Amino acid sequence: MKSLDEIAAALQGYDPQALSVDQVNAFLAELVQPVSAHESQDVYLFDALGRVLAQDVDSPIHVPAHNNSAMDGFAFDAAQLKVDQALSLRVVGTALAGKAWPGKVNVGECLKIMTGAILPDNLDTVVPQEFCQLASAQDVTTITIPPNILKAGDNRRMMGEDLMQGQAALKAGQHLTPAALGLVASLGLPDVRVHRRLRVAYFSTGDEVLSLGDAPREGAVYDSNRYTVFGLLTRMGCEVMDMGVVRDEPAQLEAAFAKAALEADAIITSGGVSVGEADFTKAMMKKLGDVAFWKIAMRPGRPMAVGRIGKSVLFGLPGNPVAVMVTFLAFVRPALLRMMGSTAQPAPMVRARCLEPLRKKAGRTEYQRGFVSSAADGTLQVRTTGNQGSGVLSSMVQGNGLIVLHHAQGHVAVGDEVDVMMFEGAI
Ligand code: AMP
Ligand code: MG
Repeated sequence: MKSLDEIAAALQGYDPQALSVDQVNAFLAELVQPVSAHESQDVYLFDALGRVLAQDVDSPIHVPAHNNSAMDGFAFDAAQLKVDQALSLRVVGTALAGKAWPGKVNVGECLKIMTGAILPDNLDTVVPQEFCQLASAQDVTTITIPPNILKAGDNRRMMGEDLMQGQAALKAGQHLTPAALGLVASLGLPDVRVHRRLRVAYFSTGDEVLSLGDAPREGAVYDSNRYTVFGLLTRMGCEVMDMGVVRDEPAQLEAAFAKAALEADAIITSGGVSVGEADFTKAMMKKLGDVAFWKIAMRPGRPMAVGRIGKSVLFGLPGNPVAVMVTFLAFVRPALLRMMGSTAQPAPMVRARCLEPLRKKAGRTEYQRGFVSSAADGTLQVRTTGNQGSGVLSSMVQGNGLIVLHHAQGHVAVGDEVDVMMFEGAI
């Protein structure tokens, strides 16, 4: 495990007073490692949604298990097809989905077959029923296939064409989505081996922060950060440890950090990390752990503390409610995904036409709350949610993504395309 100084030394142009967003993520990628390599568990599929696979799921069977028909029609041996000639075949039976047809189909014969029914070994092609003419006389049904409409193998699904037995249907690190659950079930597997949940402790700091239920007081604000952090972590499938609001008092802070470090893989705090803070939070982080205090070239979310306390990774987020969410999405979320053993890649940003001019200072990354919609011509357009103050939490509720104005980017004119990081399932 590298110390913070070692990571910093290897990072090009590291300056804790002026880090770019990319440098922060590069640093965090070195700081955090998957935590549960030796602590996986088997869970039933109904309990597995959102969990991260600890090992590949190898298919115990061929999928599909047999050659079968892709259409309702008539199965036959395509060796009998001749160019420019119709082919007439006698229907000798019906193969239904779910069981093998027991008879034999000879030359000059065909088998009525339903979609998904097993294709007998000596038949390789299915003619859809709407393509042929049927004639019946004295209990004998005959079909006639018009010339030149089929070739061998048409409308046949091959055994194992989706998955061969032994092949990895899902890879370790995959998040179990609804589709992944269905895929595992289709293999007949009732459970999966997943990483244990990541344990994340969080608390808010600051004497001006009120817990819900406290009487309002002049100059004080209700603690919203614990609720957004709770929601963000829960959406990620973490096991959360809510530690409340911790007063700006050394003994309380020390006790909170010590308990969190003992029990959690990661600790998230909010507040108390900005410059000129008269509080004890920074001092306690410094005393108990290996912690760096950064100024990041971004807005919102400039100050942040990062490091380790005991075996836990510490993310000391700023206090402003929007800054908490933005730094969480930009830095904490990717780092936690890595700790969870997830191989999820960040969703690609969407490009949208900006409907208003945006002032932007080059040399920092700015995140504006945006609302993306489809224009009449089907292209994407985005407007901001109005007041972009870092305390305006309603902007995060109204927006459906963050407009990311990159480090080197300058002002945006109406009609310019901008990148938007959509919230999707994260918020
Ligand atoms: P700080 O980073 O501690 O200077 O906090 C910046 C601002 O964020 C403060 O003025 C508080 O009003 C606000 N703030 C800090 N912690 C919280 C919290 N837990 N919930 C809501 N607002 C907060
Ligand atoms: Mg404060």
